[in-house]
Amino acid sequence: MKQIKNYDLEQLKEEMKSIGEKPFRAEQIFKWLYQEKVDSFDEMTNLSLELRKILEQNYTLNEYKILRKQEASDGTKKYLFDILDGNAIETVLMSYHHGYSICVTTQVGCKMGCKFCASTGIPFIRNLTSGEIVEQILAVERDTGVRVSNVVFMGIGEPLDNYDNVINAIRIINNPKGINIGARHISISTSGIVPKIYRLAEENIQCTLSISLHATTNEKRSEMMPINNTYKIEELIQACKDYIAKTNRRVSFEYALAKENNDNLQDAKQLVKLLRGMNCHVNLIPINKIENGKYTKSSNENIMKFRDYLNDHGIVATIRRELGSDIEAACGQLRRKSIKEDSDY
Ligand code: SF4
Repeated sequence: MKQIKNYDLEQLKEEMKSIGEKPFRAEQIFKWLYQEKVDSFDEMTNLSLELRKILEQNYTLNEYKILRKQEASDGTKKYLFDILDGNAIETVLMSYHHGYSICVTTQVGCKMGCKFCASTGIPFIRNLTSGEIVEQILAVERDTGVRVSNVVFMGIGEPLDNYDNVINAIRIINNPKGINIGARHISISTSGIVPKIYRLAEENIQCTLSISLHATTNEKRSEMMPINNTYKIEELIQACKDYIAKTNRRVSFEYALAKENNDNLQDAKQLVKLLRGMNCHVNLIPINKIENGKYTKSSNENIMKFRDYLNDHGIVATIRRELGSDIEAACGQLRRKSIKEDSDY
């Protein structure tokens, strides 16, 4: 069986042609899937009964089962989805004054091993397909009745390590006949896979690139993020500069402040030096403590001093609002789970 949500619109047109159907059927199916959000082919009433039967017999809709749903005091919702292969993934819905933002997972597990992340230590199992990425948005919208307006690829996994499926998912999310979320409301986060940043710059997608930087020296960054042993800070920053030059888009840098690790004045000075003159924004994240994690949160006073230093020296920096930390739905707290591991449902 093929997953029908793995196809972007152009691919679905080709698929329809391959089964002897007119390409416009793809647009009709897209509308049923992403605008009407139907959960069976039978509900696609402007398709012939024969076509509906062919779809039923050859394609799946891969709808997730909600295994668990938690709501934080700030309204953030964390979902644990059964993705129908014995694994479970987490997806988070956050409410902001400008609308609803969803943080999607791109891989079952992660290979990157960032030391501040709860996904670390859990083996990588597999990439999610485009349909499985997109389904997280549909499942949350179906459950809550809200319309998601922003998508961030910052859940479990390194999005650029699952490049093709992530790009395909973005094409479905961004398509006006699909989920219809503007590219400027979509962010891809990466730990810094430099060749994929260059590849992304060549795609004609206006989404925001967000770099998990977190340290300003190779020594410190390699200790926090093993990817830095392969792609050093200088290479990463050069790739970002080239990305900005090519796309004319501002790059966002994520910097999680850990007490007595990367939160002192020297780090702030070095960060200014690294980013000076770049069209960028720095998102300061009060690091979230995770079980067995080595890092603890910087004091509020330090975080504010760090922000003020950057702003006073020409680097636009803001402190990210902490959402969902009481249900471990905040940055770095998501985990991949196997269905057996979670006994609460
Ligand atoms: S922070 Fe992201 S890239 Fe790093 S280990 Fe966690 S999920 Fe993987």
